[in-house]
Amino acid sequence: MMVSIIAQRTQRTQRKAREKGWDVECGEVKPPRLRASAGEDLAKIAKPVYYKNMTLSPSIHPFTHGAIQCYSLRDYRETYPLDWLLPDVPTDEINAALESLGLPRDQLDIDTNCLLLDTGRERVLIDTGWGRSLPDKQGALPDLLGEIGMTLEDITWVVLTHGDRDHCYGLLTADSEKTFPNARLLMTQDLWFFWEGVAGGSPVSPETREGFKRITRLYKDRVTFAGIDDEVIPGFMWLPAWGHRPGHTAWLVNASGESLIHVGDAVVHPLLITNSAWEWPHHAHPDQAVRDRHNLLNMAAGTGAVIYGAHFPFPGFGRVQKDGLNWSWMPLP
Ligand SMILES: [Zn+2]
Repeated sequence: MMVSIIAQRTQRTQRKAREKGWDVECGEVKPPRLRASAGEDLAKIAKPVYYKNMTLSPSIHPFTHGAIQCYSLRDYRETYPLDWLLPDVPTDEINAALESLGLPRDQLDIDTNCLLLDTGRERVLIDTGWGRSLPDKQGALPDLLGEIGMTLEDITWVVLTHGDRDHCYGLLTADSEKTFPNARLLMTQDLWFFWEGVAGGSPVSPETREGFKRITRLYKDRVTFAGIDDEVIPGFMWLPAWGHRPGHTAWLVNASGESLIHVGDAVVHPLLITNSAWEWPHHAHPDQAVRDRHNLLNMAAGTGAVIYGAHFPFPGFGRVQKDGLNWSWMPLP
């Protein structure tokens, strides 16, 4: 029963996505219309900038997006061998591409970045990092928030790209309680079904299953499911990118005529921007994941939107331009 409900809803979402010109199977890519947002009036009420006259941790990067004060916060860094990201690409080619991006050879530093957007009215956190509930991975996010003068109670919305542990376990404290007591969660309903499906017995570790169960139990009264056209938070809309995981979305944030696209795990590293044919093997639906990546990069290149990556080298944002079959990557600032 649950499967058929999900299938029906997925078909509806796919149809609506196609009506908006989004490539969910194949064909010409036309980016969805970028809307104006409430950015102007947000400018009047933007909070003072917390970091003035402070020396910040190298894992905090403040920037502005339209009238919104943003902070890129590096929760965690892991270093992987090259064949973890790209097992089918010769090492020499990866090293040449890393060098052209100004990155070290022979290793991949994978950062886990969280994006905090302070609109003045709302403090919106997109993804929460690893959290503190796993003994071998202690995320830095709570400390970084403290450093910019925010308490965990200040966060009013947590927006999720998807339900993998490195994006959602930050919802739990070390004691498996709520990290953000006043936050509402904004996500797709498919993401919730993903958590419930895994918690109900999909083949993952018992620890992961317990974590998802705990999150759904703690936050079930605080969740808003966003449809494809919904702007629950003014200026925030999701874009379909479910190749990585069920319910995975990118998030478009429009502010004062400027656009930012948080690509989640649809684009895991800038190497996959500058080499469009390369494939990362850790997606649930690899063919759709390639289309998602191309959709998002074409949209960003066509509109000048800033791209923010959950795992890009910190601070994790920049612009892209179409470059033949690939795109060029220009990190900011
Ligand atoms: Zn991830």
